[in-house]
Amino acid sequence: MHPADPKSNLWTHTAAPAPECPALQGERTADVVVVGAGFTGLSAALHLAEGGADVVLVEAEQPGFGASGRNNGQVIPAYSKHNPDDAVAEFGPERGERLNQMVGGSADLVFDLIRKHKIDCDAAQEGWLQPAHRASRMKGVEIKHDQWAARGAPVEMYDAARAAELTGSPIYHGGWMHRSGGHIQPLGYSRGLARAAMAAGAAIHGDSPVQAIDRDGSQWRVKLPNGVLRTDKVILATNGYTGNLFPGLRQTIVPLRSSHLATAPLSDNVAKSVLPGNHGLSDTRQALWAFRKDRDGRIVTTSAPVFTAGARGRMTASTIQRLNIAFPQIEQPQIEYFWEGIIAMTPERLPRYHELAGGMIAALGYSGRGIALGTAVGRMLAQRALGTPASELALPAVPLKPLPMHDLVVPLARTLSWYFRWRDTRD
Ligand SMILES: Cc1cc2nc3c(=O)[nH]c(=O)nc-3n(C[C@H](O)[C@H](O)[C@H](O)COP(=O)(O)OP(=O)(O)OC[C@H]3O[C@@H](n4cnc5c(N)ncnc54)[C@H](O)[C@@H]3O)c2cc1C
Repeated sequence: MHPADPKSNLWTHTAAPAPECPALQGERTADVVVVGAGFTGLSAALHLAEGGADVVLVEAEQPGFGASGRNNGQVIPAYSKHNPDDAVAEFGPERGERLNQMVGGSADLVFDLIRKHKIDCDAAQEGWLQPAHRASRMKGVEIKHDQWAARGAPVEMYDAARAAELTGSPIYHGGWMHRSGGHIQPLGYSRGLARAAMAAGAAIHGDSPVQAIDRDGSQWRVKLPNGVLRTDKVILATNGYTGNLFPGLRQTIVPLRSSHLATAPLSDNVAKSVLPGNHGLSDTRQALWAFRKDRDGRIVTTSAPVFTAGARGRMTASTIQRLNIAFPQIEQPQIEYFWEGIIAMTPERLPRYHELAGGMIAALGYSGRGIALGTAVGRMLAQRALGTPASELALPAVPLKPLPMHDLVVPLARTLSWYFRWRDTRD
C-alpha cells in the first residue's frame, strides 16, 4: 500500500471514529477563521469557542489529516534543542521563563484536556524518557535535567542499570525522564479535540481547502471551492502542509518527509519487556531513535528517508536492524504498517509566531515536537485573537524569514539527516 494512502497509517485503524465535519457551503461571517485542523488549529478553535468567540475552522481534508494524525504520539514537555537557560538568554528573563513555563507545562495541558473532554485516545501519562546513546551525551542530559529541575519540573536522572530497566534495552548509558510526558493515539486525540471544539460551539468543516485569502474592505475574505467566509481575524495553522496562502510563509520552514513504522503486536511476554512502564522514548541521537508501544503491544517508531524512491523497503530493513540492536529480545520483528508525514523544521528548531497582517496570525515549525507544544501554541493563538497583547504571549512575534533558495534547502536537509545518522554512529 502506498504510504500516502490513509489506510497505510496504523492510527486510522485504531482511532475513535471521526466526527462529522461536512464541507463548507455558502457564505457566512465569523469572529475568527482558523485554517488547518491539526493540534494547533484544533486547540485554537477549542480555546476560542470556550472564550466566547464565533469560530469557524476549515480543513482541506479532515481533522488530523496532517502531521497530527501521523506522528509517534509522544507528548514531550521539553525543547528539541534548547535548554531552559537558552530560552532566557535568547528572549530575556521574563519572556524566556514564560516560554519555559509554556513548554514545561505543555504535556499537562494535553493530558488535562484529554481528561476534561473525555477524549478517547489511549492516553498514557507515564513519563517520557530521553536516554543517552553515548556515554559522552550524559553531560548534556544532566544539564537538561538540572535546568528543568531548577524550575520545579517533575524530572529525574537515571544511570545505565536503571536505563536498562526503564527502557527494556541494553544500549543506553543513562538518561533523564520528564514525568509529566507520555504518549497518546494521535489521530484519536485530533478527533477528540475536534469533538470538544464543536461541543464548545466551534464550526469545523472538513473537505474545505482554502484557495485564497484577501482583503474585503476592513475584513478578510476566505475563499473556498463552494463558499466564502468573512472575518476580522484569521489564524493560519497549516504547519508542514503550508501552501501559498500568504506570500513567503511556506518558505520559512523546511518540510521534511518522515517515515513511520509499526510492528505486528508483540507476544505478551516480549511486549512487557519493552518499555515495561509504558513510557515514551526518544533518545539523544541527532537523527533520533524514538519508540513507544501502542495499546495492542506494537512498537511504533520513526525514521527519515534520505531518498524517497524505494523508501519502504530500505526503511523496513533499517528499522528491523535498529530493533534488533535496541530490543534484541524481539526475535524476527515484523513490520505491519508503513506511512509518512511531514515535519516542519526551522533552523533554530523552535516554532515561530508571526503577525502577518492586521488580524492575520500564524504559528508553525515545531521541528518534530508539536503534540504538546502545538496544543499550547494553539491556545496561545486563541488568547491573541481574543485580545491578549502580543507582548504578553509566550512566543515573541517575529518577522517572516523565508529561507534563501528554499527549493534547494529540502534536498540539502535530507542529505543533512544522512550526515547526522553517520555522525550518531561515530560520536
Ligand atoms: C512522522 C512524524 C512523527 C512525529 N512524532 C512526534 C512526536 O512523537 N511528538 C511530537 O511532539 N511531535 C511529533 N511530530 C510533530 C507533530 O506531529 C507536529 O508538530 C504537529 O502535528 C503539528 O500540528 P499542526 O496542527 O501545527 O499541523 P498539521 O497537523 O500538519 O496540520 C496542518 C493542517 O493544515 C491543513 N491545511 C493545509 N493547507 C490548507 C488549506 N489551504 N486549507 C485548509 N487546510 C489546510 C492540512 O491538511 C493539515 O491537516 C511528528 C511528526 C511526524 C510527521
